[in-house]
Amino acid sequence: MLLGAHMSIAGGVYNAVLDGKKATCDTIQIFTKSSNQWRAKPLTDEEVERFFAEQKNTGVTVSCAHDSYLINLGSPDEELYKKSFEAFTVELERCDILKVPNLVMHPGSHVGSGEEVGLKRIANAFNMLFEKLPDNKTTVCLETTAGQGSNLGYKFEQLAEIIEMVEDKERIGICLDTCHIFAAGYPIQKEEEYKATMKEFDRILGLVRLRVIHFNDSKKGLGSKVDRHTHIGQGELGLEPFRHIMNDKRLQKIPKILETPKGDELLEDIENLKVLRSLVKK
Ligand SMILES: [Zn+2]
Ligand SMILES: [Zn+2]
Repeated sequence: MLLGAHMSIAGGVYNAVLDGKKATCDTIQIFTKSSNQWRAKPLTDEEVERFFAEQKNTGVTVSCAHDSYLINLGSPDEELYKKSFEAFTVELERCDILKVPNLVMHPGSHVGSGEEVGLKRIANAFNMLFEKLPDNKTTVCLETTAGQGSNLGYKFEQLAEIIEMVEDKERIGICLDTCHIFAAGYPIQKEEEYKATMKEFDRILGLVRLRVIHFNDSKKGLGSKVDRHTHIGQGELGLEPFRHIMNDKRLQKIPKILETPKGDELLEDIENLKVLRSLVKK
């Protein structure tokens, strides 16, 4: 089982690994740089070496990174599009240096330009990106979104459309976020609902493309289009969806990452992971 949480890289990327160990994670997600700034301080060799060493020491792996919230590859504004493209390129390069296998990203927002235009711009960015970085080994994982505002990716079909337009499809994966798909209108609580939603996912995107699962309960209801995370079992989702996923043999090897609120002591992560582990049928 690969279960864990998003961890802060404050003070150095290796700190995320140490915190992951403290919080009983098998694996973690990180930002490769500060998520609310465009600029990134270059990684030093020392920092990178220690990042690898701490993973070896602790046994905690880093299965994915998450891109900065400032990046919008769907932007109709040329300047922001270019800035986003450059920043995303740097993120992908940093993942490669850190040997992080997956970079999870929110596909982008069309900001009034229309969904089709937005999806095309996103796919176009990937085509340029993969040409620019031919040897990069990190998989770009499109995250399913809640559909807030003009955010794209709240329907499996939209993600499939992006992939359809990307030439090097092997370099694209998917991150499924439990809170987001529920808020976007996919029911997963009753077993039949869960099965039907996953069947839909498999038909449209393919389970083989699923690389990461984000484990978040949702503060808002089915189809609310509002993205608010809360602790496992304490939101509108309740425990059932997590029980289905934890016992779904097809998803056993997929890293499952919490993105729920927490304090410095990480007690909330420890508790959420305990709850999740208790759902596995013996
Ligand atoms: Zn997420
Ligand atoms: Zn979210």
